[in-house]
Amino acid sequence: MKFYILTLFPEMVMQGLSTSIIGKAAEKGLLSIEAVNIRDYTKDKHLKVDDYPYGGGAGMVMQAQPIYDAYMALVDKIGYRPRTIYLTPQGPTFTQGMAKEMAKEEHLIFLCGHYEGVDERVLEEIVTDYVSIGDYVLTGGELPAMVMIDAISRMVPGVLTNEESGSTESFEGNLLEYPQYSRPAEWNGKKVPEVLMSGDHRKIEVWRREQSILRTQKYRPDLLKKADLSIKEKAIYKVNE
Ligand code: SAM
Repeated sequence: MKFYILTLFPEMVMQGLSTSIIGKAAEKGLLSIEAVNIRDYTKDKHLKVDDYPYGGGAGMVMQAQPIYDAYMALVDKIGYRPRTIYLTPQGPTFTQGMAKEMAKEEHLIFLCGHYEGVDERVLEEIVTDYVSIGDYVLTGGELPAMVMIDAISRMVPGVLTNEESGSTESFEGNLLEYPQYSRPAEWNGKKVPEVLMSGDHRKIEVWRREQSILRTQKYRPDLLKKADLSIKEKAIYKVNE
């Protein structure tokens, strides 16, 4: 899987994505991450990449030409126009489902806006998906791109050493994950739930399922409505369709 990030701050994204699990996956060749500096493609002799908005208003707008040329250079290299995501607070909110689906792509381009945003005309030319990471406004698309690349990478086969850890996590079947415990068995006067030390895998499975449902009910009742629950579970937890 190959990620390309069109940005004015390549060092920011490369630093953020070169450590831990994602950094190791890149070292192993399971994925590659390339940041492209949009400024390298400006035709302005002062290396300007932004200008005042037509119609007035606060802030600057990223111009179309450097973004389009940076994008086309990537398209030439890749050999086709891959799925291209513009990070924007105006898009639908990123979900685990989107991460899974996007992990099937061979190449993904991310366009990070800055300042007041990007000239609409280049977005119309190159963008296939508009994605937000939440209902708040950030200074740039770099953090959202990093968030998306992290979540998508975890869904690429082989990136998580224990394949299972991706499939039993929060949002699978629209449930949050059960609570986790590690050694020692007692810490700060708090004991690990007995069932987890019983060695009875069936009982542990039942307990975890119950905890997942209770946790989702408490923190994300909106999700629970969409969860894959049996008729019996729906009755126990009073979940209406
Ligand atoms: N003027 C824009 C608006 O009101 O929709 C906001 C521009 S924002 C200050 C600058 C850039 O940050 C955007 O072009 C986008 O790339 C990125 N950005 C900000 N918030 C975001 C969010 N919640 N999700 C994804 N990208 C975001």
